[in-house]
Amino acid sequence: PADLPESIHSRSVMLASERLRVIAKMDLVEVEGGRVTPVDYKHGRPREGPQGLELWPSDQAQLALQGIVLRENGYRCDEGIVYYRKTGQRVRVEFTGALMAQAEELIGNAWATAAAGEIPPPLVDSPKCPGCSLVGICLPDETWSAGEAQSEPQQLALFGTEPRKPVRREVRPLVTPRGELRPLYLNTQGVRVGKSSAVLQIKEDRTLLQEVRIGEICQVNLMGNVQISTQAVQGLCEAGVPICYFSMGGWFYGITIGLNEKNVFLRRGQFRLSEQDYFATALARRLVAGKIRNQRTLLQRNHIEPAPTTLARLKEMVDRAEAAASLDELLGIEGNAARLYFGDFRGMIKPDEQVHAEELAFDFEGRNRRPPRDPVNALLSLGYSLLAKDLTVACYAVGFDPYVGFYHQPRFGRPALALDLMEPFRPLIADSAVLTAVNTGMVTPRDFVRVGGSVALTAAGRKAFFRAYELRMDTLVTHPLFDYRVSYRRLLEIQSRLLARVLEGEIAQYPVFTTR
Ligand code: SF4
Repeated sequence: PADLPESIHSRSVMLASERLRVIAKMDLVEVEGGRVTPVDYKHGRPREGPQGLELWPSDQAQLALQGIVLRENGYRCDEGIVYYRKTGQRVRVEFTGALMAQAEELIGNAWATAAAGEIPPPLVDSPKCPGCSLVGICLPDETWSAGEAQSEPQQLALFGTEPRKPVRREVRPLVTPRGELRPLYLNTQGVRVGKSSAVLQIKEDRTLLQEVRIGEICQVNLMGNVQISTQAVQGLCEAGVPICYFSMGGWFYGITIGLNEKNVFLRRGQFRLSEQDYFATALARRLVAGKIRNQRTLLQRNHIEPAPTTLARLKEMVDRAEAAASLDELLGIEGNAARLYFGDFRGMIKPDEQVHAEELAFDFEGRNRRPPRDPVNALLSLGYSLLAKDLTVACYAVGFDPYVGFYHQPRFGRPALALDLMEPFRPLIADSAVLTAVNTGMVTPRDFVRVGGSVALTAAGRKAFFRAYELRMDTLVTHPLFDYRVSYRRLLEIQSRLLARVLEGEIAQYPVFTTR
């Protein structure tokens, strides 16, 4: 435009090209003598080419596109600059006709890929992946590894030898083991959550109790009578931080998320396959067998004297679950395994001797709920509620509809898919957190109240259990398929993403998580 000033530096400039249907978000735009130059900031280092320092091809294409958008908005734009932070160097690229044509072709290809309605497979062993910001979503090595582990042909066992173990592709540990963001739990009745710029303020009457930066949390959990302002909801939605609602007793009943549900193709596949009995049964077999296997492992590791008959029968039920012909049969097997497992659960409860002396001790006669009738059942119910919430959050993060499941059939208000994914993790996360809370004295009989025939946690008891649960979620475990260590919280998302790969046809079978 004619009224352009002689010299200007403008940050975070956003312009669009309607012709190409693209938006360019430019880190910096420099104006000198009527010429406009886009400047992009990159973390890495420039490429060393035969003529000196160069831009990487993807950086070049991105910058050329910014040039096209600037030109289409009436600016004179002859070159672009990338500033590489690692080496602190600026590298220029001239916007030649050939470069601009190549960038336009790439955009055409990108639109054609989007129109095809199928996400292309990830790159194989690419050196680009370690530096890619999408690696935690894309899971390139995990997808190939899980796919190949299942499709590797087995040698015929002509001479009665053991079948050959599939050779596993090496999976680079590209995913960070733990997220830096933490969940926020608000448990004190009557507090209010407000927002001041990017900070949540938790107040009781007019007293400020706590301030939390929105950029440091991954979810907000409101237990019971906790109010939240519209401004806080808006800020959390914008930042992609889900708000989860629980009753005071810990019943998970709702979630608010922003408009982040972009992967409509995945949901279409989910709806289609949820109607297919063969698919639902095949997936449910793996989930139920995985759950029973993990229950057996927990008993074996923690029971004061694991009964060989129980372990043997659970093993038998794993085999039966893997061969089950229908969802009804699986429900029966799962119920029988649960009776066996919870029948021996008491042997894993080993609190301090002095705790036993108190009135409401940790006796456990089997699983009961709605309402729980003893302290251990109250803790188990809260643990499952928190886990259902975390898998609902993971389902939304991946792009699933958490209400359409495969093993758990749809029912009004039930996050059926989250409950499906949760099955193998019940013993490993919720039950294990309960055992830690009781056996280490984090929760004591004083943390419960008895009302009629039911038992509920006090506010202090809930707080103590949240700590035990988060401790468990933060524990690092080795993934049996990928051989790297990640926290349980990270694992829930990885497993949900692997299920998405199954629905998209990239992996034949869901690689259920079991501990050794
Ligand atoms: S992580 Fe995925 S999106 Fe990123 S470069 Fe690798 S294959 Fe491509």
